[in-house]
Amino acid sequence: MKQIILCKYGEIVLKGLNRSGFEAELLKNVRRRLKSLGEFKVSSIQSTMYVEPLSDNIDLDEVTERLKKVYGITKICPAFACEKNLDAIYSTIKENLSDDLNSAKTFRVTAKRSDKRFPMTSMEVMAELGGMILNDFPHLNVDVKNPELTVICEIRDKAAYVHGPAIEGAGGMPVGTSGRALLMLSGGIDSPVAGTMIAKRGVIISAIHFQSPPYTSERAFIKVCRLAAKMTEYCGQVTLFSVPFTKIQEAIRDNCPEELFTIIMRRLMVEISQRIAEKYDFSALITGESIGQVASQTMSAIVATDAVSRIPVFRPCIGLDKQEIIDISYKIGTFDISIEPYEDCCTVFTPKHPKTKPTLAEVEAAQNAFDFEPLIQEAVDGTEFKTFKPYVDYDFLI
Ligand code: ATP
Ligand code: MG
Repeated sequence: MKQIILCKYGEIVLKGLNRSGFEAELLKNVRRRLKSLGEFKVSSIQSTMYVEPLSDNIDLDEVTERLKKVYGITKICPAFACEKNLDAIYSTIKENLSDDLNSAKTFRVTAKRSDKRFPMTSMEVMAELGGMILNDFPHLNVDVKNPELTVICEIRDKAAYVHGPAIEGAGGMPVGTSGRALLMLSGGIDSPVAGTMIAKRGVIISAIHFQSPPYTSERAFIKVCRLAAKMTEYCGQVTLFSVPFTKIQEAIRDNCPEELFTIIMRRLMVEISQRIAEKYDFSALITGESIGQVASQTMSAIVATDAVSRIPVFRPCIGLDKQEIIDISYKIGTFDISIEPYEDCCTVFTPKHPKTKPTLAEVEAAQNAFDFEPLIQEAVDGTEFKTFKPYVDYDFLI
């Protein structure tokens, strides 16, 4: 009898002819996430992925925790494999689920038979196993509608598998099946959430961060690196581009009307981001904006910012309340890092009274009064990058 984890797919199942490509990407992602935990055999048969540990000392709880963060998986079932006969199945149940059966008051058995050569129907298997359990655990009652414990038995091609209720997976599509996008990553709460939401749809995420030393500190940049590193648990490998932004911010301060500082800065961030996107082959940008959250996120401010973009800008948090965004950031583990009190370049030279309803014409006129092009080019040329992989401890991030 050996332990194995069965994972069920979500939308991939609907993919028709492209399905094998989606499955291959998912298997590749799973292998990469688990690599540092030991040796595994990862395979896919009949819409189910089998994750089989090949050595004894593997921490299966940690395996399950990691699988819970892989997009494309809807259900995770840590299971026990055994021979395909009723006695073997029952002794596997007794050996491994006795504690659960002892502490429950009600139960039911669910059986699924994908191996149609097995001589009993699913109903017969359920009835037989139910009877055997009642015999050995007489305190239990059967409750088919709302049981405290469901014992699940799957009779598949190679073996029978016994497990308790499935654990919920992350859902979504396997990262790597939907193209590449560039996330504008600040040190705040919203942008890591936005990037992770888009990764959930299968998109490979890289991030771009603007920093303005000495107005922003090295610690502030390390915080952003830690966010990017944390995001890898859901997004897979994340490359972080860092743009030197000091000269541009000083030029805005010295040459533009104060009430438009923020909006012009955001337009220049988008301009530089899309040049990086074009250079490194990303098809879209992502931001953490949400309508009306702050002065630079009113409808008119978003319209004025969006006007400079030649590629789509995805804003998955656009209709979410702050609390809803915070809830997701807890879930993906970025909240505690995001609330560390380091400055962002957005808080450098912030106007006392930012214009909340700027017209596109006045913003364009104010920006065009100064030739930013040489500085934009210098910032693009000076952009550096680092790549973060999942579950690696990077010394400099401590
Ligand atoms: P966040 O919580 O993501 O920082 P926010 O509510 O603080 O968002 P803003 O500071 O107005 O909002 O930023 C809006 C969006 O602009 C961010 O979600 C992010 O996508 C992008 N952004 C802001 N600052 C930076 C930066 N320094 N580098 C890259 N992108 C940034
Ligand atoms: Mg911010």
